[in-house]
Amino acid sequence: AKHKQLMSSENQTYQVLHVDLGERSYPISIGEELLNNTGLLTQQIKGKRIVVVTNTVVAPLYLAALTARLTNAGKVCSAVILPDGEEHKIWNSLMMIFDHLLEQKCDRKTTLLALGGGVIGDMTGFAAATYMRGVPFVQVPTTLLSQVDSSVGGKTGINHPLGKNMIGAFYQPQAVIADISSLKTLPDKELSAGLAEVIKHGAIIDPVFFDWLEQSMPRLRARDPQALSHAVIRSCEIKADVVRQDEREGGLRAILNFGHTFGHAIESGLGYGAWLHGEAVGCGMVMAAELSCRLGYIDDVVKTRIRKLVEAAGLPVVAPDLGEQRWLELMEVDKKNEGGQIKFILLKPLGTAFITEAPKDVLLETISYCISPTP
Ligand code: NAD
Ligand code: MG
Repeated sequence: AKHKQLMSSENQTYQVLHVDLGERSYPISIGEELLNNTGLLTQQIKGKRIVVVTNTVVAPLYLAALTARLTNAGKVCSAVILPDGEEHKIWNSLMMIFDHLLEQKCDRKTTLLALGGGVIGDMTGFAAATYMRGVPFVQVPTTLLSQVDSSVGGKTGINHPLGKNMIGAFYQPQAVIADISSLKTLPDKELSAGLAEVIKHGAIIDPVFFDWLEQSMPRLRARDPQALSHAVIRSCEIKADVVRQDEREGGLRAILNFGHTFGHAIESGLGYGAWLHGEAVGCGMVMAAELSCRLGYIDDVVKTRIRKLVEAAGLPVVAPDLGEQRWLELMEVDKKNEGGQIKFILLKPLGTAFITEAPKDVLLETISYCISPTP
């Protein structure tokens, strides 16, 4: 995302980032009150026929106002309201979207608009990729996680009983509209989960952004709109830049998995849903920093800064005791592994990430220390 523009309409200024993916390029608009900005909505949402896909939690908050604005702007709107939750990111919900599209005789020009968090975004994107072999798709992410992470990069999909995100497609949206004001209604725990991915972006790419996060964490948790806007903009720029260089996950994109090898082990070890993904990633980054430090890639000071920032974001920093053997097993099944060796994203130094393997003894020391850290 190289070109960033400051735009202004209806007394609101907002930023537009251009994600540069050749003919699949698209703009991400980030700012306050964008869902109330008819000018921006009509400019960014091109088609006439819109089907909004949302869920039972988000619909009562934002659906009526959004459809009223779109209708006033001359669009023809209808909505599919799905049950809320990761457990509904499944085939059945996808079918509910297709049922609606076919019943309403929606054609190839119908635009699907995802209004909600990452679950809605991933499912709607996959529905858009496959309905009539592809229809236009716009994302309106309403969680911090979806604004900084899942709405950038073009991964869409659903879960299978045998694995998370196992069925899907790469499919880029026509536009992303991230309204910072929608974060006001987000539960604290969900805000913290989104902050984990924000911290990750600083840790792997941008030490200046990491410094800024250390200074700004209280403002972010108080939902200061200016601080949140900056965090979302910088995160989208960083992720878009990585994705631009590696759209289909051939190599570089793997650095976005910093904290995720440990994090995935926590999620599946405790049972999905026990910790939020962002919570597991927060703790996973503390563990990856510990491993980086034990292997001599970063010093104690950096390691401590990472733990303090994760803690300040309201995220867990002490690892669950799953048992040594179980920890190893869980990390070995991580889907990013090739040839049985566990791959880790480590830091050297702060702001630079690389992929490597780790000696088993150091790994076990890291896990046992992170389960019961001593000052
Ligand atoms: P989510 O979509 O489940 O949203 C979290 C909760 O917040 C839900 O209950 C939701 O209904 C509610 N909510 C959403 N917006 C709200 C608002 N403004 N106010 C109040 N409540 C609101 O979870 P998420 O963290 O946004 O996304 C997680 C999903 O994203 C996972 O399925 C994950 O696999 C996926 N993901 C995808 C990518 C990708 O690249 N496609 C990247 C990261 C995560
Ligand atoms: Mg993640």
